[in-house]
Parts: sequence; structure tokens; C-alpha cells
Amino acid sequence: MTASKKVRVRFAPSPTGYLHVGGARTALYNFLFAKHNGGDFILRVEDTDLERSTEESMKMQISDLKWLDIPWVEGPNPETFEDMGPYGPYRQSRRKEIYMEHAQRLLKEDRAYYDFRTDEELEALKAAALASDPSKQYQVEAPAQVVSIADAEKRLAAGEKAAIRFRVREKRDYVLHDLVRGDVTFPSDMVGDFVCIRSNGMPVYNFCCVVDDALMKMTHIFRAEEHLPNTLRQMMLYEAFGYEMPQFGHLSFILGPDRQKLSKRHGATSCNDYRLKGYLPEALNNFMLLSGWSSPSGAEIMSREQQIAEFTPDRFNSSPAVFDTVKLEWMNGQYLRALPHEELWKRVEPFLRDAGLSLPASSSAEWRDQALTIFKIKMNTLADAVPLFLPLDDSRFAIGAEAAETLGWPESRAVLEAWRGQVAAFAGERMSEADFDAAQNAVKTAAGAKGKNLFMPIRVAVVGVPHGSELKMVVPLLSKASLLKRADAAIAGLK
Ligand code: GLU
Repeated sequence: MTASKKVRVRFAPSPTGYLHVGGARTALYNFLFAKHNGGDFILRVEDTDLERSTEESMKMQISDLKWLDIPWVEGPNPETFEDMGPYGPYRQSRRKEIYMEHAQRLLKEDRAYYDFRTDEELEALKAAALASDPSKQYQVEAPAQVVSIADAEKRLAAGEKAAIRFRVREKRDYVLHDLVRGDVTFPSDMVGDFVCIRSNGMPVYNFCCVVDDALMKMTHIFRAEEHLPNTLRQMMLYEAFGYEMPQFGHLSFILGPDRQKLSKRHGATSCNDYRLKGYLPEALNNFMLLSGWSSPSGAEIMSREQQIAEFTPDRFNSSPAVFDTVKLEWMNGQYLRALPHEELWKRVEPFLRDAGLSLPASSSAEWRDQALTIFKIKMNTLADAVPLFLPLDDSRFAIGAEAAETLGWPESRAVLEAWRGQVAAFAGERMSEADFDAAQNAVKTAAGAKGKNLFMPIRVAVVGVPHGSELKMVVPLLSKASLLKRADAAIAGLK
């Protein structure tokens, strides 16, 4: 690569499901690498598997990348999904002619041949080879007599089907200088003559990938380790086309806490799962960043700017990363608590709304600020806000069955009546923590109750149940009118 060449990297998901955190990490690394080098990050949709690829999945993955704030400069437009950029189309399903032209080129140069053999014939060849030498891995080879292009075209015109197969010509080692794994040697006989275009006309992944990466002028490719074995075929294709090979880096696997490959078994694996659970995209990004890469400064919480500034491939870890959800939750809590309250509210609010909470007081910025100051200490995710805010919803207030015992205590009537009296006499709209302490002390004196016999009945008269958040946190968030209504309900429930 010449020094002046602009860095171009891509994320190339197959739209066959949700965006997995492993995929999102690949996208993030490519994006940060592009940014660090003043280059371009491109999104390419690898949808040649027509049976498994869906438009819906592509849109979901795009939505997840948008949520993560990993923007691309070329690829499907994030809003209209139409191509943007000079090297399109960016969806492989729309590039069939380009692949066919490339396959033709290989045919003409005798780097590939038409293969009219059926699956059954190939299976029989494999069985025969295995029978003669079971220790040897069977590799497909060209038939003794390859059909000429002219003859093949006649047979195809007559309705026969043929695959186009790459001819692995020479036995030698291919050495990949991998940016993560160092030098990796592949003996060429690891693969036999491989298919480029299937007999149904569909090109295969390794073929499309090379054609696209070359035509889209990729300089570097960071992708999952599981693609490492594909690289041999891809190196052969680069060589056959005479295209300059990008630099590769194969990213280590992400494992679950049991050191098995991260899967559904381990719980949430898609970005969307984390979004729904109330994780912040900036926290998930920061966490993914550190699952396979480390900062030279040893920093853990890193701003986007710092991530871009420090992102060099020499910090990739070639051993697998363990997806530590406890750490993710901790990190999310750190990010969440650092948000300005107006921003935090914007993010919390949809969770409260989805839970059906009605909180008219939240129209006041001061109330929101106070509530978040109190509750965010107890939150690691946005979803954690729901049980914390729930006791503030008047429409949800009810004296629960668990309160029956408390309401049956001999002191409870005196405590509740004194409490109601304190609330009624309070001159303001909402009590402060100090007002509440003072009121509670006055109740203690008036009712002659203390400890549990004092606190529990008041708790029931505020939240309806004898447990939950500390009252000095909840009371200042409730209006006088609400406290009165709640006290009345508790009094009505006395035995
Ligand atoms: N479409 C492939 C995948 O989703 C990407 C392969 C590559 O990056 O070369 O795994």
C-alpha cells in the first residue's frame, strides 16, 4: 500500500437476522480504524444467500448501527436504503452482472472452468477417493477433459446447468500477514477447485467478497476470526485477478463467561436486546471496544474522540475476549450517571412510558432533576428506572395485601392520623427531606410510637406496601395532595 492511499474499510453483514454484538464490534473497529486514519467506513450488504437474507433484517441492522452511532459514508442510505457513494451498488444481490463479468474473465484466462458435473457425480467421486485413501481429505479437481467455453455455452443455451469453478493450479504455501494474528501459512492443498458461481447462477461468498473489496478499493479488512480459513481462497482470487490485496486482520472470538462461543444460551447477544434492556449505545460501544482491544493508556471509560485517537491495530488481542455482562452493566451505570439530567430523562422517559406510568409531575424540570438525582444512584440500566418511578404514579397506588399486618398494629391508627395531620398542616406543595424528617419526628411524639411501629405505617401510607425505596427519597417527589389521598386510603384500611 502506498503511503498516500486513503484508508477504506467496510463492514459487510449478511442480513439474515439481528445485528449480533460480535458483528457490531467488527463494525465499530472498522469505523474507528477509518476515523483514526482519516479514511472512509463503508457498509456493504452481503445478501447473496437469497433464502436467508431479508429486507427486514437489513433494515434492523441499519437501525442498530444508527443507534450505536457508527455512521458510514458509502452504502445503503440509512434513511432511504438507496445506494450512496461512487462504488455501488452496495448490495450484493444487485451486483450479479459484475460477478458474472469477473467469472468470465477467469474462464477466458483458464483460471476457472465450467463444471457440468452434478452433485451426485461429485459425491460419487468423493466416495471413491475416500475408499481408496481414507486418510486423505478429498479435494475437487477438474475432470480430465474440461469443456471448452464455446461448447459450454452451447450446452448452457440448451438448458444444461454448470457451476464455474476456480482452478487451484499450483501446490504452494500462501502466507497471510494478518494484522491481528501475525503470519498465517496456508498450504494451497487445504482447498480443492472451488466454486465461484453455483450452477443456479448465484455467486458464492468468497468470490463476491474479493470482487467487491477490490472494486470498492478496500485497503484493510477487519473481520471475524471465523473467516480466517476463507482467506486462502480469497488470496488465490486476488492473485488470479491481479488485484492488490488489502491488509487483513482477523478479530478474536467473543466467548461467554463459560468460555464457549457467545450464543443465545448466554442471554442477550443482539444489539437490539441490549437496547431494549436499557443499555446506552455509548456504553455498549465502549464495552465492545475493550472486548478484543485495549487502550495503550489503560483507560477503560473512553470518549469517542479518545477511542478514535488511540485506535491502532497493534492493540488488538489475538486471544478470545470474554463477554463480561457484569462489567457491561457497571460501565452502563457509569455512563448513565454521567449524563446531564435533561439527557438522562430523554432516555429514561420512553421506558416509563412503555411501562404505562403516568407521572404528571414530570412536566417540571425541577422535579425531573430531583427524581433523577435520587434514583440514578440505584440505576445501572434505563429499565431500572421503572420500579423506582412506579411508586410515584398515583394511579398505581393501592394498599397492598402485604400491608394488612402493619395496619393491624395497635399504634398504627395513631401514627397514621398524626401523619395525615402533619401532611395537611404542611404549607408547601412538596416536602423536602428535612420537612419529612420533621414531620416524622412530630408523628413519633404525637403517637408515642417508635422504630418499626412508626416507620412501617407511614411507609404503607406513602407507597402502599411495607417495603421499597427509602421514604425520604420518595416523599419529596410526591405532592401534598397525593400524600393526603394516600394517607386517607391507608386510614380507610385500618383494622
Ligand atoms: N458477510 C460476512 C459475514 O457476515 C462478512 C465477511 C467479511 O467481512 O468478509 O460474516
